[in-house]
Amino acid sequence: MTDSPKQKTLKTSTQVKYLKGVGDRRAAMLARLGIFTVGDLIYFFPRAYDDRSKTVTIAEAVDGETNVIRATVCMPVTEHKIRKGMTIYKTKVTDGFMLMNLTFFNNKYVKDMLKEGEEYVFAGKVQIRSYTAEMTSPTFEKAESGERIRPVYRQTEGLNSKALEKLMLTALDCAELPDALPVSLREAYCLMPLEKALRNMHEPENEDMLLEAKRRLIFEELLMLQIGLMRLKSKNSKTTACVIPGDFTADFFSLLPFELTNAQKRAVSDCVENMKLTSPMNRLLQGDVGSGKTAVAAALVYNAAKNGWQSALMAPTEVLAQQHYKTFLKFFENTDIKVELLTGSTPASEKKAIKNRLLTGEADFAVGTHALIQKDVEFKKLGLVITDEQHRFGVNQRTALNEKGEQPHTLVMSATPIPRTLALIIYSDLDLSVLDEMPKGRQKIETYAVDSGKRERAYGYVKKHLVEGRQGYIVCPLIEESEEQELISAHELYKNLSDGFFRGFSVGLLHGRMKADEKRAVMNEFAAGNIQLLVSTTVIEVGIDVPNAVIMVIENAERFGLSQLHQLRGRIGRGEHKSTCVLISDAQNEDAVHRLKVMCSTSDGFKIADEDLKQRGPGDFFGSRQHGLPDLKIADMMTDTDILRETRTAAQKMLKENPALEGEDYRGLRAKINEMFSKAMN
Ligand code: ADP
Ligand code: MG
Repeated sequence: MTDSPKQKTLKTSTQVKYLKGVGDRRAAMLARLGIFTVGDLIYFFPRAYDDRSKTVTIAEAVDGETNVIRATVCMPVTEHKIRKGMTIYKTKVTDGFMLMNLTFFNNKYVKDMLKEGEEYVFAGKVQIRSYTAEMTSPTFEKAESGERIRPVYRQTEGLNSKALEKLMLTALDCAELPDALPVSLREAYCLMPLEKALRNMHEPENEDMLLEAKRRLIFEELLMLQIGLMRLKSKNSKTTACVIPGDFTADFFSLLPFELTNAQKRAVSDCVENMKLTSPMNRLLQGDVGSGKTAVAAALVYNAAKNGWQSALMAPTEVLAQQHYKTFLKFFENTDIKVELLTGSTPASEKKAIKNRLLTGEADFAVGTHALIQKDVEFKKLGLVITDEQHRFGVNQRTALNEKGEQPHTLVMSATPIPRTLALIIYSDLDLSVLDEMPKGRQKIETYAVDSGKRERAYGYVKKHLVEGRQGYIVCPLIEESEEQELISAHELYKNLSDGFFRGFSVGLLHGRMKADEKRAVMNEFAAGNIQLLVSTTVIEVGIDVPNAVIMVIENAERFGLSQLHQLRGRIGRGEHKSTCVLISDAQNEDAVHRLKVMCSTSDGFKIADEDLKQRGPGDFFGSRQHGLPDLKIADMMTDTDILRETRTAAQKMLKENPALEGEDYRGLRAKINEMFSKAMN
């Protein structure tokens, strides 16, 4: 690493094409990797590192894995034209004991670069076939300089890892990289300066330095995330005029056909207490599928209405809004609470009347979809805003509904189980109530994984239940590549089943491309028991509640993620009858087999979420796509929990001492936090 001061001429916000060695053509390639600015480039971290200080001999190489081998080229590289557009290059190398074959595809530079008699360090996947070792397309470099930890980047056509490495070093030399962390903080937590950390990410001096570099960058990212969230929370804790002082929930409980669980009672009372205050409630209600979040919402709506306040509930889909509407009508049938339904498919004339009733205060409660956040929807006195299955809404959409009132109380309901400590941090802008107890009398859903050879038997089992008066679901294979294909396969499955195995039964079809009123008609028929068997794509995933449906068959179950399977399965086991879920899959793949095993062994949403995180990684889980949170570039909230805790304390301390983060020391941090959050929140 050089210490000689270089002329820093570029900013991290500069377009990457202005970097020496890039230009328009390469800029286009970089764009494919999501790199547009010099900063994007510098923060494009290696996906792995080859530790070339840890070489093995050819004899020690592990079949099928990436090995690093120090060896001498023992013949000139030969060229073989296989077919048009495909040339392979071959040579042999030796470590003094054994020979190893090297093969490269379409890489004519290899011919000039690998010289007979010279020693190199090769890193790549080794295949061992009857005592011959072979390495295909390894990366390599001269042995003298090779004993370092080398970065491995995700490549794109035209730009390999090595080319990226070269660009990184240029970028690090040319870009101004002001350190956002105040020196005092860096000293207190032993964090290396930013530039040194970035350099060590791309060109590690040794393993320790690499670890320190990572720690420093993770620390910064998690610190910014938490400061940002904490400030959001303090911004949200303004005062509100929506004080809801009375507690009438006991009256409501007495109207219910069941006794609330203790967890439900606790959640209701958390909220009621919260809404008595002059600071608006901002709360997450987290509960596994079937834990009874809707009843909690109903109690709060009831209470708000009895205190003279209106409420609104927003659901992510028409089907769900429709279903909620019906549920609430039932909850409120012996009360004077007036419920309205407002969705995209509400006829215009009706819409007008509904909006009018909301505006005059004649209606107490609006259930709906995004239609609720349209400009012309106004309330007389909106005191409580509830969003269901919040991971489907961005933060901005939540906010839009809030703006219909003056700082109304908000409740966000989510079935995504997140370990409690983690939830507290991630949602540090929200208070948390957890429904960690299922309603009494719920039976475990028996779950079996079978191969397609047992499909007929599974269907036979479904039939038996239908004959007994129960209902069931058959979930079509998920086809991620093409929605069109998925649609075709859903139609085919439906046709085959209704004309074939289930002839004589009433079979329905539900898929995402159906119009809202078609979906609703099918759901109504299913809920009424007129459809016995519903063939469906994953549109049933969220929130559908038909207690008489007790059997579900999921086709090609390996294509679904764990959380998705859990959500799907949550559609059954909702009533008094024992429920069964059959997962059909021929997958041999280890991950898939494991997923199915997890599903068969537990129905605990928290356990399943943990497994899901382990398999998929948190990127998917906590990505801004789902939670409206900023994307994290380097930190991993599941595994970096120590740093997460450390930064939480640091953030609290900083905000306590300097709530507005004033002063020159904090300028960099302020700017970076704003940048991080402006991207995620708009
Ligand atoms: P989710 O949390 O998945 O939204 P729901 O609110 O849809 O769950 O509730 C699932 C089912 O359980 C509904 O049929 C609801 O009426 C019923 N339920 C809710 N709370 C209780 C309870 N305390 N005892 C019995 N059944 C309940
Ligand atoms: Mg629900």
